[in-house]
Amino acid sequence: MRPRPRCSTPPWARICRSGSCRGRPGPPGIAWSPSGCRPGLVFLAGDAAHLFTPTGGLGYNTAVEDAVNLSWKLAAAVHGQAGAALLDTYDLERRPLAIRNTGYARGFADSLGLFAPVPEIEDATPPGEQARRAAGEYFDRHARAEFNIPGITFGGRYDGSPAIVPDGTAPPPDSAHTYVPSACPGGRAPHFWLDDGRSLYDRLGLDWALLRLGPQATAIDGFVAGARARGIRMQVVDLPDPQARELYGANLALLRPDQVVGWRGADDSQARAVFARLLCQAA
Ligand SMILES: Cc1cc2nc3c(=O)[nH]c(=O)nc-3n(C[C@H](O)[C@H](O)[C@H](O)COP(=O)(O)OP(=O)(O)OC[C@H]3O[C@@H](n4cnc5c(N)ncnc54)[C@H](O)[C@@H]3O)c2cc1C
Repeated sequence: MRPRPRCSTPPWARICRSGSCRGRPGPPGIAWSPSGCRPGLVFLAGDAAHLFTPTGGLGYNTAVEDAVNLSWKLAAAVHGQAGAALLDTYDLERRPLAIRNTGYARGFADSLGLFAPVPEIEDATPPGEQARRAAGEYFDRHARAEFNIPGITFGGRYDGSPAIVPDGTAPPPDSAHTYVPSACPGGRAPHFWLDDGRSLYDRLGLDWALLRLGPQATAIDGFVAGARARGIRMQVVDLPDPQARELYGANLALLRPDQVVGWRGADDSQARAVFARLLCQAA
């Protein structure tokens, strides 16, 4: 029998669906479709696009984020609000996040799977006792690290995407165990408690949101007119609390329907260009 040709892609970076790997699944989890999220007219999301080892519990989070990212772009395209390039940003934005998240999950899997117990661990001796205690401490540290990951869950970012308007500020460093809320465009909109005890997130609907931050009530006519001209549903959320202004670092912040900060700034003078960029249209 002829030997099967070997696939040059590292096993953790492939879902073996094509060429010499056809029909054979890759190793459990830790994979990324080589065809990306968008082979032709089909958009892949969730486990169809990336497979996770269960460590970290990140497969479903990542799948839902895919769907949230894709759905508003499809809606905008179907309603004629976006340029065709907006759909391309699905792959551009989600692929790095999937690779990031599968990478974190793989690290957790390796932390478990590559642990090598010493031979005496089963001995009823003081060294055996010591080995069991050391193993217990190791797995305790591992478990705490694996399930304390707000940075992975909330800290994913779309820096460099054409559907984000950068403002020249640097995002917080990517860290599994630390989430630093930041309104630097490209990341999750920072949570803020409202006066009535609700979260800002309870005020955000399924569409665009313009946050007007601080007590000075910045004019927003440009954004309201821009949204109306494009047929975009955009709600205005007033956050007069100075702490909200401080948290967001700007008078205005425009959130995409996936609750990612698309733009922030001082006034509405660039509203037309901001919408054009976020929707990948000619200005
Ligand atoms: C043991 C285990 C533990 C996990 N724990 C976690 C966790 O703690 N946290 C986390 O975030 N993730 C976890 N995951 C991963 C998570 O379950 C998946 O990443 C997630 O369900 C993927 O969602 P999906 O919609 O892409 O795929 P699925 O949930 O697999 O949905 C695909 C659906 O398509 C249907 N389907 C398939 N073929 C066809 C067809 N031809 N026609 C019609 N329907 C079809 C299937 O029946 C299924 O209902 C775990 C997974 C496993 C296996």
